[in-house]
Amino acid sequence: MSVFEELFDDFMDRAKSVADSATRKTGEVVDMGKLRYEIKQTQWDIEKTYAKLGAIVYESKKSSESYDEVIELAISEIDSLCSKLQELELRLRAYKRVVKCHHCGKENDQNFLFCSRCGSNLQTEEAAEPDVVEVEVEVVSSQEEAAPFSQEESAEEE
Ligand SMILES: [Zn+2]
Repeated sequence: MSVFEELFDDFMDRAKSVADSATRKTGEVVDMGKLRYEIKQTQWDIEKTYAKLGAIVYESKKSSESYDEVIELAISEIDSLCSKLQELELRLRAYKRVVKCHHCGKENDQNFLFCSRCGSNLQTEEAAEPDVVEVEVEVVSSQEEAAPFSQEESAEEE
């Protein structure tokens, strides 16, 4: 078996297992430990796949053989692993409300009184900032100021 065939088979197997675990969603029992384990596992898989992709590119450059097919597989595997990871993290967040420590950034269970890493009081912070919220900051362009004659229109603009 050539290196190419080995890598190809490997990726086909892995692509299948990723698809399997992605569809295994119905009738799930929410198990935090398992979810966390799956996230860790997926992060590992992504790292491993990146490493493998590097090895493939190295191999193809050295041998001047075309490894495009395997490279494509590696890329699509990374893509699907990334979206799987995203989904897992979303699920974890949905089921578990976390309180982010204002001191060290560690995400703690909302029932915790103190940060499990640095010991800061979490309750006072929770009252002020109940959840992690991403805020989109829109930078107001200076164009309006630069064009004073268009001001009559600007009141109706959004
Ligand atoms: Zn902390």
